[in-house]
Amino acid sequence: MAWARPLVAQGPIIRTLLKDIAPDSVSGSILFHEHLSIRFPLTRALAEKAGRAVPASFSDDVDLMVEETRLAGKDGVAVIVDGGHPDMDRDLDALTRIANGSGVHIVASGGFYMQRNYPADIATRSADQIAADLVHDARAQRLGAFGEIGQQGGVLTDDEKKVFTAVAKAQARTGIPIFTHNAYTGVRVVDPPVPMDAALKQLDVLEAAGADVRHVAIGHVCCLDDPNVATAKALAKRGVFVGFDRVTINAIIPDDKRVAMVLAFLDAGYTDHLLLSSDFSNARSLKKNGGAGIAQTVTAFGPI
Ligand SMILES: [Zn+2]
Ligand SMILES: [Zn+2]
Repeated sequence: MAWARPLVAQGPIIRTLLKDIAPDSVSGSILFHEHLSIRFPLTRALAEKAGRAVPASFSDDVDLMVEETRLAGKDGVAVIVDGGHPDMDRDLDALTRIANGSGVHIVASGGFYMQRNYPADIATRSADQIAADLVHDARAQRLGAFGEIGQQGGVLTDDEKKVFTAVAKAQARTGIPIFTHNAYTGVRVVDPPVPMDAALKQLDVLEAAGADVRHVAIGHVCCLDDPNVATAKALAKRGVFVGFDRVTINAIIPDDKRVAMVLAFLDAGYTDHLLLSSDFSNARSLKKNGGAGIAQTVTAFGPI
């Protein structure tokens, strides 16, 4: 063991921003991919390209996010993993205020999003250098996950492969779980299409770099229009969790298709490999605006 004091000592823990908790102490739902502090990366990239100021985000109002998260707690959510990191302007102080004020356990994440959002020096740094920084940040900032780690298009760029490799190396040294972002477009037709096996290619890179598949969730698989869930089953067979983590986002793929895919996945015997979440990042979903709230996975999708 490289560390005199390993990040993960005895037995499994959930590393939240405020304290480590035992998984069996959690009474309530765990949402593994939501956004409580975010500025939309594409909006930012476009604004920067055009030389405009980056527009404000609904989550800039931290008091609002405290209240919305508190309401999610009342709806039965015990733990929320925030899927942001510096590429998404995630604010750790804001997340800490939300954790303190809402009573919901918050896990903060580290890593990088996708090619267009990377800092310029990603191109010149090695995977080992990037991994060393990720490990440092995880220790210094009480990060409990690496995610969301994404790709911009259907095929990983060289830099994206390097980031996936770095994240796997950082996981091997810390035990911190990984969750990913795929570019699947659901029922929307794009040219060229995102290959069905894009999620498997992500896993190839992570595994080759030493990731522990038992602590990996491949994300946005529910945005692949795949009634036979061939890709989801192929992933689960290799030991990872499969993220159906954009539930309620009907613009990409209607939830009735997601429900059919979830049932097919469960029928195939992969109950222990299913993770649900909603990738909450839209102000319309706030309870204040008449939406189902941050707990929409359990309050809106769950009852379907
Ligand atoms: Zn994503
Ligand atoms: Zn996300």
